[in-house]
Amino acid sequence: MSILVRPARTVLISSIVLTLALPAAAKTPVATGTGGAVATISEPASQAAIAILNKGGNAVDAAVAAAATLGVTDPFSCGIGGGGFMVIYLAKDKRVVTIDHRETAPASFTPSVFLKDGKEMDFDTVVASGRSVGVPGTVRGWHEALDRYGSMSFKQVLAPAIDVASKGFKVNDNFNHLVQENEAKFAQFPATAALYLRNGKAIPAGSTLRNPDLAKAYRALAAGGAKAFYSGPMARAMVDAVNANSGSMTLADLANYEARLRQPVHSTYRGYDLYGMPLPSSGGVAVAEALNILEGYDLKSLPRAKAEHLYLEASRLAFADRNAYLADPEFVDAPVAGLLNKDYAARRRELINPEQASAHAPAGDPYPFQNDVSVPLRPNANKLIAEGAHTTHLTVSDKDGNIVSYTYTIESWGGSGIVVPGYGFLLNNEMTDFDFSGPAPNVPEAGKRPRSSMSPTIAFKNGKPAFSIGSPGGATIITTVLQTIFNYVDLGMSMPDAVNAPRLSERNGMETDVEPGFIGSTQAQALEKTGQHWSKKPEEIGAANALVFNPDGTVTAVSEGHRHGVGSALVQKSAH
Ligand code: GLU
Repeated sequence: MSILVRPARTVLISSIVLTLALPAAAKTPVATGTGGAVATISEPASQAAIAILNKGGNAVDAAVAAAATLGVTDPFSCGIGGGGFMVIYLAKDKRVVTIDHRETAPASFTPSVFLKDGKEMDFDTVVASGRSVGVPGTVRGWHEALDRYGSMSFKQVLAPAIDVASKGFKVNDNFNHLVQENEAKFAQFPATAALYLRNGKAIPAGSTLRNPDLAKAYRALAAGGAKAFYSGPMARAMVDAVNANSGSMTLADLANYEARLRQPVHSTYRGYDLYGMPLPSSGGVAVAEALNILEGYDLKSLPRAKAEHLYLEASRLAFADRNAYLADPEFVDAPVAGLLNKDYAARRRELINPEQASAHAPAGDPYPFQNDVSVPLRPNANKLIAEGAHTTHLTVSDKDGNIVSYTYTIESWGGSGIVVPGYGFLLNNEMTDFDFSGPAPNVPEAGKRPRSSMSPTIAFKNGKPAFSIGSPGGATIITTVLQTIFNYVDLGMSMPDAVNAPRLSERNGMETDVEPGFIGSTQAQALEKTGQHWSKKPEEIGAANALVFNPDGTVTAVSEGHRHGVGSALVQKSAH
């Protein structure tokens, strides 16, 4: 691992030469044009997607190329040591498919894996250990995506990422800040410290960081496919790294890992058809339930503060249900049909006082709305669990109209903190998305996938693509996606304004999370009139990426205009 400072670089991808942005060049968070489009939080990742599209790859090929590059430039949010959820629109078939490649609990897991002497273990101690590491799903997910819906090989789509990992990329302030925040965690693991720390301190912004070990891991995938990850020396290295740090994973856990193709969650909202991620992500169901509740109001006729009050209350109610009922569908019979039922939403809506914020919402009873005459067992409602705010979301479309909306993660910033020695990638801590104790639907079990909040979404109007949206941010993912849709559809904002507006995240807690600068604003004061109140620790929420399919046939890619160091939106052919 070496750090060199270089001003700019040129990346050679087979016959294509593309110049990565100079450090001083402004990223473009909004771009409109024709052909394919991409929005990610990383300039090299967006460039990788465009390079693949220019080579004739489709949106799936380009999405994997961008994701692999994000694994290099944003390694604390995502990578091959983690997992994710991909929603794909196949234009020719007019069909939406999803690929669940969520990390899975090793066979050693039991509901008491996070208990010691009957008490829950310390959360942060579990995070920074092999115990939090789930069997990674990313590589199997990419394999399924490319094999079924792509047109290129691993070798072709990994080429841009291999180049960035070998030649290096510029460490920005955000990257440096994330390492600083994780110095103590990273210092515990020698391979991690060697990669990201210098004398125990974060590598400075402005340095060029190379990751030849990760380039080697990607080359192994390029040559051997998913098998090179789930068996052989790389698998052995992962198992050893987990087990040397209090975990218990076997080669069989890796060899047995499968991605799942699942039916998307389909819902409707004011003339839009929305397709989102089903369980084990709670994202699609929670967003749909909250929108179903909101649909009963004429939001456009209301002053903004009144409408936003209703947005917060609808989110609170949806979260009460999400926390009580949702978990891995292969283990728990969650009442999804009831939760998505419009009449059920009407029942939930009755609990909202348009003039007054409620304190804490109880879970509702969706079972009578299940169209199921049996008397099912009711699970014990569980509590709100600690969840971080990390991950990455990217979205790509191609000239043929295919669309990918993809959120993927290693859970906390820097995941478990364990870099796999010799392979340069961080292992996830996704298992801490389970409840640490039960009874609750989302307790840990062997082979189970922890409940997620990831909400990659694609929306259609009159059978045609309208927009795609998604974000990182733990459980705030759901509110960021929900609020962006609400801003766009109900408040009539443009997509860039909808993305850049201050985010308010109500997840049925005692107070609503807000971002720095919000408290004291006119908007905050207007909402306080209905009794809404705010967390005293404002933090940036999410990092959304969206595409809008315009009526004139152009596409607008939209990334963050100010959060997370500004995102990168690119189109194949610019419209101006
Ligand atoms: N682990 C989270 C989830 O699956 C995502 C991580 C994050 O964004 O903080 O919902």
